Amino acid sequence: MEVVNDNTCSWINDLSPRDNIQSVTSNLNCEWLVIGAGYTGLSAARKLGQLYPNKKILLADAQLAGEGASSRNSGYLVDSTLNDGFSSNKELDNYKKKTDIYKLGIEAVKRFIKEHQVDCDWNECGKYFASSKKEDKKILENFSDTLSKLGFEHDLLSNKDLEKKLGSNFYNIALHTKGGILLHPGKLVRAMIDTLPENVSLYENSSLLNWKKVNDTIICQFKNGSVKAKKIIFATNGFLKSLGIKSNYNFPITLTASMTRSLTDEEFDSIGQPKEWGVLPVRPMGATIRMTKDRRILIRNTAEVYNPYQMSQNELNKRSFKQKIGIKKRFPQLPNDIIQSSWSGIVSRTRNSSQIFEKIDKNIFAAGCYNGSGIGVGTLFGEQIAVKASNENSKEIETIESRNKPTWLPPQPFLNLGVKAMLMYERLRARSEI
Ligand SMILES: Cc1cc2nc3c(=O)[nH]c(=O)nc-3n(C[C@H](O)[C@H](O)[C@H](O)COP(=O)(O)OP(=O)(O)OC[C@H]3O[C@@H](n4cnc5c(N)ncnc54)[C@H](O)[C@@H]3O)c2cc1C
Repeated sequence: MEVVNDNTCSWINDLSPRDNIQSVTSNLNCEWLVIGAGYTGLSAARKLGQLYPNKKILLADAQLAGEGASSRNSGYLVDSTLNDGFSSNKELDNYKKKTDIYKLGIEAVKRFIKEHQVDCDWNECGKYFASSKKEDKKILENFSDTLSKLGFEHDLLSNKDLEKKLGSNFYNIALHTKGGILLHPGKLVRAMIDTLPENVSLYENSSLLNWKKVNDTIICQFKNGSVKAKKIIFATNGFLKSLGIKSNYNFPITLTASMTRSLTDEEFDSIGQPKEWGVLPVRPMGATIRMTKDRRILIRNTAEVYNPYQMSQNELNKRSFKQKIGIKKRFPQLPNDIIQSSWSGIVSRTRNSSQIFEKIDKNIFAAGCYNGSGIGVGTLFGEQIAVKASNENSKEIETIESRNKPTWLPPQPFLNLGVKAMLMYERLRARSEI
């Protein structure tokens, strides 16, 4: 099966359509081939283009570049993610390693947007971890303790503060971290496409069907042509497994999200004219919900094991209905039918939430699996996997390599059964937060 384009995502529909799309339609040769043109693949290709100005670098994507998860996400460039507090120094050390990577990810994106003067609705307004359940206070206090130990600026907030800031009295308790950034994911990834170096050739609507290594050449078969490469980087994230990359260490998860139209002046007044904000759930399967700078509400409240290649309109409508209820719960005064679009996107997970950053074999490399932190970490890992594949080192690679490595997953059908059971348990635990 192949990844297909669709026109369901508001972030993508905000942008003007691209032209001059070329696909793999003949037999090509190159020094470097990058598969997957999201944040990771685009950043890898950009870095290779800088490192090897005289070499031919080819970047191929199964759909239009950037229109996978990199355009379909919620736009949180995260400085921290929530864990249930830490009881030992070892766990604190591990959490620090994670946030050190997030920090480098933020720096990588910042460098890119500064160098290319990118407008991606960048807003350093921080982010909230919020819950309607007062009993989640304990989780947030533990988290606050961890953040204090690591020097993250943050505040604990109660219902009254939150109502003013969010325009909703749904939440009873929250923790705000100052370092989170909100942005327009589609604009960011589009800028990465528009600024690719001249020696990078982009091929779209070109799905890699299979690949093999023969002596020192990697031979890649596409529907209407082939590419022979000396070195390859796999950056297909949720589709790493389908290409046989680290199959026992990662699996795809399908997320769906919806976005409303812009609220009218009257509707915006009715919720107290809040400034742009972003809320992440305290309980893992709760809703991510965001007010954009142009007064649209984005909500994501599903995560599931599903066919990663396609979701029918009928199935999407069911998830969109859940999202309509999620918005209604938080903003009962708003009209029922304000959702403008709903879409699905694929992320990649590992068992212990660690990322893949690896030499798979001689001249074969892969990076991916960032769960909800791919904007920053994908940009960082893309750049740094290109450095690693060039046999170079960097302080970023040293930080990345010191993380806990992904752990082994059980084979099918046990994997799907286990993941489904875990998601069901988390969904039950978070049912008030959806
Ligand atoms: C709804 C949703 C909300 C999210 N929210 C956030 C968030 O707020 N913050 C955050 O940091 N992250 C978030 N994420 C995760 C984030 O989007 C990803 O981690 C990030 O996009 C990963 O980038 P990537 O380049 O590695 O992969 P992708 O963007 O998935 O790109 C991989 C590319 O590989 C291509 N591909 C796949 N198979 C093949 C093949 N056989 N041949 C050629 N090309 C192929 C795909 O078409 C795709 O374009 C969210 C994701 C979703 C879906």
